[in-house]
Formats: sequence, structure tokens, C-alpha cells
Amino acid sequence: MRRAKILATLGPASNTESVIETMVSAGVNAVRINMSHGSYDTHTAAIHATRSVAQKLGVPISILVDLSGPKIRTKTLENGTPVPLIVGERFTITTRDIVGNSQEVSTNFSELHTSVKPEETILLDDGALELRVEEVVGQDVHTRVIVGGMLNERKGINLPNTVLSIPSMTEKDHADLIWAMDQNVDYIALSFVRTAQDCKDVKDEIKRLNKRKMGRALLVAKIEKAEAIENLDGIVAETDGVMVARGDLGVETSVELVPVYQKRIISRAVAHDKFVITATQMLQSMIESPNPTRAEASDVANAVWDGTDAVMLSAETASGSFPVEAVRTMARIIDSAETLKPSELRKPVKFSLAPTGRTSQALCKAAAYAAREVMTEKVAVFTESGLMGRRLSSIRSGLQTFALTSSLDVYNQLGLIWGVNPFYQGEFTDSQPYQLGEGTMMDLLNAETDSTADLLKVGEDTLLRAGVVAEGETIIMMAGRLSGHGLSSSVVVWTIGEELPRR
Ligand code: PGA
Ligand code: MN
Repeated sequence: MRRAKILATLGPASNTESVIETMVSAGVNAVRINMSHGSYDTHTAAIHATRSVAQKLGVPISILVDLSGPKIRTKTLENGTPVPLIVGERFTITTRDIVGNSQEVSTNFSELHTSVKPEETILLDDGALELRVEEVVGQDVHTRVIVGGMLNERKGINLPNTVLSIPSMTEKDHADLIWAMDQNVDYIALSFVRTAQDCKDVKDEIKRLNKRKMGRALLVAKIEKAEAIENLDGIVAETDGVMVARGDLGVETSVELVPVYQKRIISRAVAHDKFVITATQMLQSMIESPNPTRAEASDVANAVWDGTDAVMLSAETASGSFPVEAVRTMARIIDSAETLKPSELRKPVKFSLAPTGRTSQALCKAAAYAAREVMTEKVAVFTESGLMGRRLSSIRSGLQTFALTSSLDVYNQLGLIWGVNPFYQGEFTDSQPYQLGEGTMMDLLNAETDSTADLLKVGEDTLLRAGVVAEGETIIMMAGRLSGHGLSSSVVVWTIGEELPRR
């Protein structure tokens, strides 16, 4: 069973139901809707297509909506045609609303002309093109081309030497967030996070807009600015998860720092029970080629060994020529990486005994040790909000983790989390003889019954029907603080088919 998950960005190459279905069958666990491109109509259709594939295939698929944040971009070009920027020539970026050409282009950042100063660097298209500011005249920023090349429309602008005071959430992000919460998505990612306060603000807004009973949308702070690296601990403490957003990170800092920061971000996140996604250029050459480079294969594998929850595909699946092949390739690389024994890694990925003082850690580590003692590889966790499922994942015990939930939202959300195999038990009221309450685990625990025995039986039944456990097999069952009753905060060594004495 694959532990590290695959997050694929949807776009023109992949946002139909048939491509999504093929990609999910090939290994996709989660999809990313990138708000920097497309319209509400196309995004809404992509979400519906994804939900329908999940239902058809009977698998969890997480949906992540990626808010653009204060991403500065160039605007449109005449006929949408790329223009050449020639080394040594002048090129102008203006805040006047014009359609661009080979002389000048407009930007969505209305304060560009008051923010930059002569001699400062302007990078375009993830740093592929470099300009130096020469003079600012009115709304026009005149530059000299230092590194040339073709400029396409709506490309990112980075200002590595310029101090900016743009809010972390733009007007567009607010509107997009309201839309996303209406669509009941599982994850919200915010681009260009700078501080813990940025995370706090979005989380508050998510809370305010929340419509779910269980498993509220989780926040992903995209680490792609030097300032975010400086504030990493505060950000990790405040957010639910992070993304190593290597594209912008490599431009905002420098390319040789990306691998250093990747290790640091992943280890900090995992140590603090937060999930982490490693993103950008993972199989870049597969945008145009059906095969990856050896370096790309190693990169994906190394991210897995670093302990990432998920690896992400960007243009490879959004606009590339081989979206399905890219997913298949990524799945094969992960499967192969996961055959390496922890002892073969220089720094084995295994859970540490260092005390944290956290109850959830106590329970999860107890489960991992109990598993080792009774020689099982399997642990099932009852998790209504998904929190205990994520906690169990973050100790990186390597156990196969079955997350049992009666919330369809939590079921989908847990799809992205390392080593977690979600099971939906919303339908267990259909299965005799465990017909209790309204059918949720909460109801079960609150019912006037011997709830522990019943809950264990319900869990067992789900796992048996899914074919992931066998009669007579011993596994670990656990629960966090479900309610004041039954399995609350328990770790149970359980043999499938066993009867608990009734009270
Ligand atoms: P983006 O974020 O693809 O939305 O820019 C990821 C990155 O910068 O790496
Ligand atoms: Mn980015």
C-alpha cells in the first residue's frame, strides 16, 4: 500500500471527468484547483467531475483550492502571442491598463511604479527572464533586459530586492475563498505567506465561512518567500500544513537553497504534527516527454525519503502533453522508493521516543509500540474530525493506517495524508446487526449501549468488507477523544472476529 500521496493540478490538459478518472486509477489521491488560472465555471466543473469520479470509483479524493495570494503578474499580450525580450534592449512594465507587446506589458500590481527603485531586479516567469530597473516615469517602469527570452502572457513577476507591503490576501483571494468554501473543498492553500499572522487571518476566515459538521477545510501555508523561511516556526505552529513551493521559493531566495529549505520545512512540519506537500518541477520534463529524467526520478524519491506527505504535479498534469503518464511515473517512483528499508536510509524515517507532552502523541506512539509487540503492520483509528488520523500519520511509524470515519468530508480530506487509508462508514446502518442511532460513530458512542464493543465490531466489519484484514488477524484499534464514552482515548489490541464480553 502506497504511503506517500500524489496531488495533481487540474487544468486544460486534465479537467475532464475521463482524464480525472484515468489519473485517479493511476494513483492520484488529491487534486489542486489553481485560482491563478481559469474561471469559476471551469473550476466548478472540475470539482464536480472530481467528486463524481470519487463516487464512481469508491475512493477518497481530496480537493485543494490554491489561492493566488499577492502574486504579481504581467497582463495580456496582443493576440496572446509570446514576445521576445532581447538582452540589452529596453522593456517597460507599466501599471497603465494596456495590451502588451514586445516594448511594454501591463501588470496587476497597481503599486509597481511606487515600489521599485532604479538598480533593482525584476524577474519574470519564475526567474527565467531578468530585468534591471533604469528609471520610473509616471506609471511606467523602464528596464534593461539582462537575461532575455520569450515572454508569455500572465507570467509571474518577482521582486527579490524590493520591500513590499501588500496584504497577504487580495480582494480576489477573499472572493475565491468564499467560492471555495461554498464548494465544500478539503484544503485551502495560500500563496506567498509571510508570517504566522497571515495564517491566523485565513484560518479565522475559513472558520467563519465553514459549513461542515466535521473536518473543516485545512489550511496549507505555501512556503515560497525568504520571509516565510525566517518565520517558519511561527507559521508551522499556526497552519494545518505547509507546501514546499519550490517554484517561487527558488526565485525569491536562490535555487541552491531550495534543497536545504526542503529538508528543513519537511522535518519541522512532521515534527510538529503538520502535513507537508512537496511541489513544483518534480517531473518537469514530462510536460513534453513521456519519460522523466533520472534526476527527476531521484528528486521524487528523495522527497518521499525526506518524509513528505504528498508530492505534487503542476504543469505536468495541468497543461502538459502526458498528464496520465506523469501520474503513473510518479506512482511507480513512490512505490519503488518505499521498498527501501528504513535501515538502508542514512537517517531512518521512524518515530522518535522524544517526549512531547502531547496526549495524542502518547496514544499514537502507544499504538505503534503495541503493533510492533504483537507483530502487526496495521492500525485502525476511529476519527470523526480527522485529527487523530493526521496525528497517527505524523509520527511516521510506517504502519498501514486505516482511518474509519462516518464523515464523507473527513474521508475525502484524509486522502492526502501520508500512510492513511480512509474508510467511510456512513453506511454501516445498513449492515446488521449494528443498527444504532443515526449511524454516525458519535451517535453510536452516545447510544445507551455497550459502545466500545459495538464500535469495535463496526470498525472490524468495515475492514473485513474492504478485504484489508482477515478473520483471526490481530491488529491495533485506537481512538482519540471521540466523546466521553466507549473507545475514547484508547489503544486496543484486537483480534478480528473476537467477541467482547457484554456489560
Ligand atoms: P504555484 O505554487 O505553482 O502556485 O506558483 C507552487 C510554487 O511556487 O512552487
Ligand atoms: Mn508559487
